[in-house]
Amino acid sequence: MTLACANCQSPRLLSYMPYKYHGVEFFDLFPKLEILGCADCSLVQVDHTQLDAAKLQAFYENEYRRDDTPASAYAGQLKTERFEARAESLLQGALPLIGAKSVTTIFELGAGYGYNIRRFGQHFKNAVLYADDPDSNHNLFAEVKRAKLTGLKPDIVILSHVLEHVIMPRARISEIVSRLTPGGVIVVEVPNEKHALLAAKGSHQPHITFFTRETLRKVFENHANLSIDRVVSAGFLNSDNDKPYITTTIHVGGWKPVTVSVDRRTLDRAGFDFTNERDDEEGGWLRLYARKT
Ligand SMILES: [Zn+2]
Repeated sequence: MTLACANCQSPRLLSYMPYKYHGVEFFDLFPKLEILGCADCSLVQVDHTQLDAAKLQAFYENEYRRDDTPASAYAGQLKTERFEARAESLLQGALPLIGAKSVTTIFELGAGYGYNIRRFGQHFKNAVLYADDPDSNHNLFAEVKRAKLTGLKPDIVILSHVLEHVIMPRARISEIVSRLTPGGVIVVEVPNEKHALLAAKGSHQPHITFFTRETLRKVFENHANLSIDRVVSAGFLNSDNDKPYITTTIHVGGWKPVTVSVDRRTLDRAGFDFTNERDDEEGGWLRLYARKT
């Protein structure tokens, strides 16, 4: 396939920064990834046309959570608290947009263990909960059924830390919008991967698209019958002036060299506050809420 932007299909993808791997499994599958920026819509991405959907599916099924063992009770509890806090925050963020709409079907793509959809189901008690996750080796909560989106007509679709893993995200969003009922709502959270945060990362894998607040909005714009309510940031902050900084200079073909500074201690204090929705790009996560018209 020819090189094409995962949002606007432009072939003008320019070198942006090297792709950092950790471990061997992902590298063995896709050893030549490079981070590119679209000269037309600015979306930062790897070359999605290089990716093999079946190989990627196998990676998520067999490798992605392999090191995710309950190493200590503390780690387990910490994780649970964070997942529950995120689920509550996404629900509260979505409720004003859902309004009085009847909700009978909720779908979550890449649901992981299912904390988000379980919380939505606790609120919408008559809704049937469906989730699709490529990793079938772990158990979802009992009230969540496994299903593909095909054939469902959901009233709410949740995409929490999924879109950055999906091949050709714009096409996937169109498919989701076509399945949603009128008045149905899409709830999205992705990592904030604006330049400074992306450059400071020790590893980029297995993300294949890297969103800023601006480009997250762009992939949801100009879909038939979809209205974006808001795009915000949330979670840990990266704008504190604490020391020490990690300072790094990025040289990229076609782009100006950029020196970036990120306070690693701020990142390490990371994110128990999932409820601090912010109208800027300082939060570690980005959230988008959209409604089918
Ligand atoms: Zn583009």
